[in-house]
Amino acid sequence: MPSRDSTAEARLRVVRARIARAAIAAGRDPAGVCLLAVSKTFGAAAVRDLAACGQHEFGENYLREALDKQAALRDLPLMWHFIGPIQSNKTRAIAEHFSWVHGVDRVKIAERLSAQRPAGLPPLQVCIEVNVSGEASKGGVAAAELPALAAAVAALPGLRLRGLMAIPAPTSDGEAQRAAFRKMRELFDDLRARGHALDTLSMGMSGDLEAAILEGATIVRIGTALFGERTYLG
Ligand SMILES: *Cc1c(COP(=O)(O)O)cnc(C)c1O
Repeated sequence: MPSRDSTAEARLRVVRARIARAAIAAGRDPAGVCLLAVSKTFGAAAVRDLAACGQHEFGENYLREALDKQAALRDLPLMWHFIGPIQSNKTRAIAEHFSWVHGVDRVKIAERLSAQRPAGLPPLQVCIEVNVSGEASKGGVAAAELPALAAAVAALPGLRLRGLMAIPAPTSDGEAQRAAFRKMRELFDDLRARGHALDTLSMGMSGDLEAAILEGATIVRIGTALFGERTYLG
């Protein structure tokens, strides 16, 4: 057993307790909420510390940084999720090196990821990102365009459409947080009613994970609460 970093272990315990408390308040099984540790800007050693405490799912935003970390951590049984914006010239490496992609918001990107997914790997697990707050400058498909994009993604052989992802406009108002997540839940339910076998709502970060879980999040993406404040933005 590798030695455990006590700060990492304590932070992980706090985050897991927050998840469990919110799930129980929502009448849900805490095991139905997956914790995705967002390790962007933190090095391989920090990921290794958290892995030693039993955390295995990690999310990364920047391809080059992620590939370096993956190479340094090849000895560990980790599951990697790409959660950043996706440029066309990065799709091949993403399709080759990740199990999940959360930020798909265009047919063209989905088609490239599908075509470039290596035949020896299972389909790439995909969440479509929705621009739930309607911010002009932000990624994510508009709610009105979601059904058409979901149908297109679901038809691609190299991808498996699992659900939806959102990064709502930040707010400390709990009711406003819940309203955005509730809208995501409604979009998710609507796609299921249209016949999509979705099981994933990727929503909730360090500041709003409780609101997300109350509205049905199945993956929360947590960076700051696990690793501390990020000292630079890549
Ligand atoms: C950085 C990031 C997170 C984690 O945010 P924290 O507030 O640090 O928990 C979650 N999701 C995405 C898409 C991110 O880019």
